[in-house]
This record gives sequence, C-alpha cells and structure tokens, in this order.
Amino acid sequence: MSTLASSVQGGVYKSAPAPASLVPGATPPLSHPTPCPSWCRHRFRPLGHHFGPSSTAHFSLQQVLANPDPLPGDLPVLLRAEVTRLDEGGELGEPVMFVQGETDIELDAAGADMLIADMEAFVAKLRVLRGQMDV
Ligand SMILES: [Zn+2]
Repeated sequence: MSTLASSVQGGVYKSAPAPASLVPGATPPLSHPTPCPSWCRHRFRPLGHHFGPSSTAHFSLQQVLANPDPLPGDLPVLLRAEVTRLDEGGELGEPVMFVQGETDIELDAAGADMLIADMEAFVAKLRVLRGQMDV
C-alpha cells in the first residue's frame, strides 16, 4: 500500500509544473505580505485581498442593515459595516470600523417598527465587529 502511494505521489511530483518562484528569471507570484487576522474574510484566499507591493487590506465579513421599504430604484440597504485593517510593509495597521450609509428612508408606523427591530439586531452585529477590533 505504501509502495502504491509513493509511486502515485512520485508521478504527481514528476508531472507537476515547477512553481513560478523556482523558475529562474520568472516574475515571482503575487504575494500576500502580512498574515490575516482571524476575522479576515479572505484569510484562506490570499489573492482575494486588495494589496500592492507593500500593502495589504484585510476586511471582515460585511454586516448589513436592510432598508425595509426602499424607494423605486433605491438600494435595499441602509447601512453597511465591516472591520478593515490596512498593513503597510511589515507594519500591521490599526483595525477600523468602516460604516457606509446608502440611502434615505421614509417609513409608516409598521415600517418604523421593522426598522427599530432590524436596528437592534444590527447593533448586536456592530458589537461583534467591535470585538474583532481587539483581536
Ligand atoms: Zn486577510
């Protein structure tokens, strides 16, 4: 059994192309210069980050407050919030909570009740994001 495994493994190594980083003169593959915090939504996908030669932006999952009654053509979202951290070189940046407002809203009493309930749930999500800023 181990003989079969090693021969299959040997075949895979033999047929696999050499990694670009081992080819002389090749451009090194895109790198992801800083390690991800535990909350980074791209932590298993280095190429999912916004990054350049000397910086990497890490983003948490985005939390959304829905608009319970969007006007025609408006987005069904009132607020978006996420934690981000921009690292420069090897320096880890300070985590920040990025909150983005999307639209205006006009509600009847039932819509206002729905918004209040959704906002209370949204505040709980903001507290989770706030906790991630300490990680
Ligand atoms: Zn990351």
